Amino acid sequence: MTDIDTLIVGGGLSGVYAAWLLSRENKSFILLEARDRIGGRIQCPKHDNFSTDLGPSWFWPAFNPRISRLVKEMGLDAYPQY
Ligand SMILES: Cc1cc2nc3c(=O)[nH]c(=O)nc-3n(C[C@H](O)[C@H](O)[C@H](O)COP(=O)(O)OP(=O)(O)OC[C@H]3O[C@@H](n4cnc5c(N)ncnc54)[C@H](O)[C@@H]3O)c2cc1C
Repeated sequence: MTDIDTLIVGGGLSGVYAAWLLSRENKSFILLEARDRIGGRIQCPKHDNFSTDLGPSWFWPAFNPRISRLVKEMGLDAYPQY
């Protein structure tokens, strides 16, 4: 038997973000994902060396300040699109 602080169901963005926050607090967790990969609706499969974007691409800094902050914190690339 092991005591775990938190059980996270689902390894999409929400679940992975929850896991990241918990790990920063040194809290134990188990993340259960039904599929054979994490990411949920986020998908970027490769085919013949090309990446195909099949999931979220856009965020709106004025309306999504938390996503904007997360993108910055993770050091992800983002650029304005007109
Ligand atoms: C084509 C496409 C384009 C998109 N474009 C944008 C965009 O430009 N901007 C934007 O902000 N959003 C966009 N979205 C929406 C965005 O992708 C989702 O809002 C976000 O990824 C949802 O994350 P989530 O973790 O809440 O849910 P999900 O990604 O759905 O993750 C849920 C996870 O839980 C798992 N699960 C479910 N039930 C169980 C269970 N009982 N046990 C274990 N695991 C379980 C699932 O397998 C899944 O992996 C787009 C989505 C799609 C499909």
